[in-house]
Amino acid sequence: MQLGSFTIEILSEGRFEIFRDGHINRSSDGESNSNSSAPADHSAVVGINPVLVKTGPYNVLLDTGLGWGLDAGSSYGDVSNVRTNLEIFELAPEDITHVILSHLHYDHMAGCSYTTSDHKTKPTFPNAQYYVHKREWEHALSQVDTAQTIPGANYQLDDFYRLIADSSVEFLEGTSNTILEGITTLLTDGHTPGHQAVMLNAGGEHAYYLGDLLPSSAHLNHYGMRELDTDPIQAKKRKVQLLRSAFEEKACLFFYHSQYSQAGSLEKNKNKQYVLKELNSK
Ligand SMILES: [Zn+2]
Repeated sequence: MQLGSFTIEILSEGRFEIFRDGHINRSSDGESNSNSSAPADHSAVVGINPVLVKTGPYNVLLDTGLGWGLDAGSSYGDVSNVRTNLEIFELAPEDITHVILSHLHYDHMAGCSYTTSDHKTKPTFPNAQYYVHKREWEHALSQVDTAQTIPGANYQLDDFYRLIADSSVEFLEGTSNTILEGITTLLTDGHTPGHQAVMLNAGGEHAYYLGDLLPSSAHLNHYGMRELDTDPIQAKKRKVQLLRSAFEEKACLFFYHSQYSQAGSLEKNKNKQYVLKELNSK
């Protein structure tokens, strides 16, 4: 889609089943790939939809997806991932200039890096600066050895250390940061203490990427995500504020975990509930 001078594309990796213990199956792989000992009732099927924003010479990624098939020797060589999705738009990983991470849960950042055939960790986007909030990094460090009860909400930071050692990561501080003209991060807290949303403003047209503060369009009118958020009250407060802004600005919303409705603007029905007017991009 076009938002003023920005071109925005959804780089969907498909649908995945995420288990409480952190392991992930491609949903379409069906039984052939499933682990029979996995507690199937403790999983969630979600879409994984990173967002690409093109503005002038810059190519910005909002979260990186799972990066399935990126590792050398991966048995998932022919799956959709950030690299294959960029090819569709005639971009290579080297063309990405900025990567903004909403937070560091594995399902949002695993695609940041990959493993070579000689077992070295490399950044998937070697020319990009990666942005994450300092509070998120500190929280992630405090959680690494903690057993997780939320599907997908685990931290696997080993590969991320490589990016930090390469000086590829910039830790953001404060409540908002302008990364490029019209691209601003907003610290939301709530889902995790350092979770951030991204606000896009191109010539007066607005869009929001809310990360896991609003994972899918199914969560529009559901504010009590007690199971998913570390601070549900803060999450609700920020979600109400941001949805109100998005509604007033007729902004486009992008949903990282929607299986089908991945973007759209807000309308209200006669019960004053939000309804998504889907983007006709396809
Ligand atoms: Zn998360």
